[in-house]
Amino acid sequence: MSVPQQRRLIFAHIDEPGYTNDLACYLKHGGYEVMKKAFARPPAELIDEVKKSGLRGRGGAGFPCGVKWTLVDRKSGKPIYLIVNADESEPGTFKDRYIMHQDPHQLIEGTMISCFANNVKQAYIYIRGEMPHGARILEKAIAEARAANFVGQNILGTNYSCDIFVHRGAGAYICGEETGLIESLEGKRANPRIKPPYFPAVLGLYQCPTIVNNVETLCHVKHIADMGGEAYTRIGTPNNSGTRIFCVSGHVQRPGYYEFEAGKITMGQLLNDVCGGPLPGRTFKAVIPGGSSAKVMRFGERYKGKRKVGAEMVDYDWGVEDVPMDFDSLGMIGTMGGSGGVIVMDDTVNMVEALANINAFYQHESCGQCTPCREGSLWMKKITSRMVHGDARAEDAALLKAVADQIPGRTICAFGEACSWPTQSFLAKFGDEFKGYPEAKKTKAAPAAPLI
Ligand code: NAD
Ligand code: SF4
Repeated sequence: MSVPQQRRLIFAHIDEPGYTNDLACYLKHGGYEVMKKAFARPPAELIDEVKKSGLRGRGGAGFPCGVKWTLVDRKSGKPIYLIVNADESEPGTFKDRYIMHQDPHQLIEGTMISCFANNVKQAYIYIRGEMPHGARILEKAIAEARAANFVGQNILGTNYSCDIFVHRGAGAYICGEETGLIESLEGKRANPRIKPPYFPAVLGLYQCPTIVNNVETLCHVKHIADMGGEAYTRIGTPNNSGTRIFCVSGHVQRPGYYEFEAGKITMGQLLNDVCGGPLPGRTFKAVIPGGSSAKVMRFGERYKGKRKVGAEMVDYDWGVEDVPMDFDSLGMIGTMGGSGGVIVMDDTVNMVEALANINAFYQHESCGQCTPCREGSLWMKKITSRMVHGDARAEDAALLKAVADQIPGRTICAFGEACSWPTQSFLAKFGDEFKGYPEAKKTKAAPAAPLI
């Protein structure tokens, strides 16, 4: 099977020599032309285009963007807010930061089109605290756009006004959870809210209807407004339209950012042909395909079942290399495409040490509201930590599983699943390494450097 070429939509110009992040360069490349045309259309038509496009959220959950916009409460009479979720913190994910650093005006244009479509008068970009450089770039780009009347009062001579503000987080992963983010934006501790019944689309920022979209998602809106929803569905595969950006890190020869049509490239093509395969003398052992919250996959394992191709149900029998890189295919084999962060591990990796590293991260980032998450993440960290420090007990592998199994479905937000899935999947796929661990480890040297 021939390896597909990259299809660069979001990254169309980003790596061109001489492409800079200032307004003059963006305008030279056709910047804000799509917005000018969009502002001449009825807003409802733009929402329809996004619905038709099938665009799925690129933050990780893959929820259809058009549906999210349709669910916004427009009858309450309250202002509607739009928040750009730029709190990119998922380990292994670094695409939004690159967009903001290299092409901030693309994000601003997509955001303004989305605001116009939804009658939003005030938008916020909530950027991760650890990205001060990105915040400065955005502030400068918004000031440029405001001076050119692409943002602010009576934009481009219309009677539509909308402003964008940058808000910096203070470095907590949970601020990326949309309701935690909203609490933080309101000046409170970022404790996620219970949802359902009330999603931000109905009760969000200041109890007003609020749209929360990821950075990359809003950039796609610009391209949908340009080519139309129908044409956008012809990129990618059914139910997985458009392109996907993969952030490949870990043990491959050419890690980096790659943009392909969703579902048109397999994991094997991405890792072997595009990223150059394993490092010399090594073999692939495991891959986490969608940020650290996704379940780990084991090379050499077969994944079997039935899937829909057009109107037909067909059998599939895939190795890790054969899986198409899209939300549905990765979901079918029990993991997820998530945020597009592909973390590769080769045969030098000790899976217990890798999990200990992930568990330390989640324990540190739990907001602590829910007992299963707060205590469970702590115990998973404690157990894997004593394993790697040579203090494991015979019952630890079983205890680890018991703790992880009691978290999902019992917490306020999806962090509960996110922190337990790594432990559950590492045990399911590499349980042999955990069982023999106490004796084996005591004969070993100090743990390896953190993977992530
Ligand atoms: P979710 O499935 O609960 O929600 C997805 C989106 O759809 C939300 O915006 C939600 O408000 C909306 N939604 C869902 N049902 C709705 C309804 N009935 N009415 C109105 N709106 C509705 O998922 P989530 O908790 O927002 O996100 C979890 C994902 O986030 C994980 O899959 C993970 O991959 C990802 N994640 C990403 C990062 C990152 O840095 N990009 C960090 C952490 C987690
Ligand atoms: Fe906080 Fe964890 Fe509960 Fe989410 S699941 S609200 S992070 S304690």
